[in-house]
Amino acid sequence: MSTADPQWSIVGQGLAGTCLAWQLWQRSVSFTITDNHAGGSSRVAAGLINPVTGKNFEPSWRIGDFLPDALEFYRRVEARMGRQLWHPFPILRLAATDKEWQKIRSKLDSPGVTPWRAASVTPPPGWCGAVELHGGGRLDTRAFIEGSREFFENLGCYHRGEIDFNHRKAHQIWCLGASGLIAGHLGTHRCAKGEILTIHAPTWDDSQIRIGAGGWLVPIGKGNFKVGSTYEWNQLDQQPTEYGRLRVTEIASKLGGDSFQILDHDAAIRPILRRSQPLIGVFEANVWIFNALGSKGSLYAPGIADRLANWMLKGIQPEADINFNTYLEESKNDTF
Ligand SMILES: Cc1cc2nc3c(=O)[nH]c(=O)nc-3n(C[C@H](O)[C@H](O)[C@H](O)COP(=O)(O)OP(=O)(O)OC[C@H]3O[C@@H](n4cnc5c(N)ncnc54)[C@H](O)[C@@H]3O)c2cc1C
Repeated sequence: MSTADPQWSIVGQGLAGTCLAWQLWQRSVSFTITDNHAGGSSRVAAGLINPVTGKNFEPSWRIGDFLPDALEFYRRVEARMGRQLWHPFPILRLAATDKEWQKIRSKLDSPGVTPWRAASVTPPPGWCGAVELHGGGRLDTRAFIEGSREFFENLGCYHRGEIDFNHRKAHQIWCLGASGLIAGHLGTHRCAKGEILTIHAPTWDDSQIRIGAGGWLVPIGKGNFKVGSTYEWNQLDQQPTEYGRLRVTEIASKLGGDSFQILDHDAAIRPILRRSQPLIGVFEANVWIFNALGSKGSLYAPGIADRLANWMLKGIQPEADINFNTYLEESKNDTF
């Protein structure tokens, strides 16, 4: 990396800021990265990547473009850090009712779903249908964020604290997550608080990720699992609640069973503008933004960071559907 005064100052070290830092480092570009340790969503995320998602059982937006980029990126960072970050797992998608299973079954042969479909399996007791998917897994987000911080700290380019937004010696790239959206600079947001439990259940099957009952159960090793999650649009804070604990406990019971111990209970806010479609762009002179990763930061952050680096350094504009400036124009047209 060049030792000249950095021209680029990344603000925020969640998945967005961290992926951008690696993309700049890989291009030998000098930069700083600063985080105020005020929380953030990436430290809480389960890191799940699921190719076919939601009640409607639809392929994730542009999964065919972004999944290969993401896996290749995490492999390169793993090699540099010397530790495993990406844990591939089969995904068992479960249907609780006949109606839900009919919907899933009607899509199993659609061109967007077939590349990810592994096998139809006998549903476990209490479920009406089940299908196994491949291509998914879990990013160890905490190891990725903390290991990257250590790496950039050792290079002398990581700083803990606040940036003075008004005195800019360098181009700033705001990777501020939900706090950046809630501040209101980027228009109307749809940020959603989510609560998640870390549980210990040594007798449960830890060979697959389970999705159903409006939630997911993700094995993280040593008999532990992440289970989540809630969606709350009004109370946008990072406080775990009793309601959240009960709701996620219910999901854990349905997906795994009744015998488990709660180790941790966390809450954070997902940065959402329009579903889980991220945006990058120029906000004002010398200020870029990278935000709105929604519920799918692990999948999209590497590929979007790559596009942003190419835009910042080479002037290569990204596709219109991730260009913040195009999005702003279209939102104005929607309003008037
Ligand atoms: C309960 C829950 C479960 C989730 N599970 C998954 C999952 O399984 N898979 C998945 O892909 N995604 C998941 N997500 C979504 C994922 O967390 C987000 O997509 C992603 O983490 C967003 O990353 P980000 O870098 O944009 O924001 P953040 O992670 O919020 O990072 C922003 C950073 O900026 C810092 N910051 C803010 N303001 C300033 C400032 N003024 N100065 C300095 N630093 C500042 C913050 O401290 C923070 O570290 C989940 C989210 C939640 C809430």
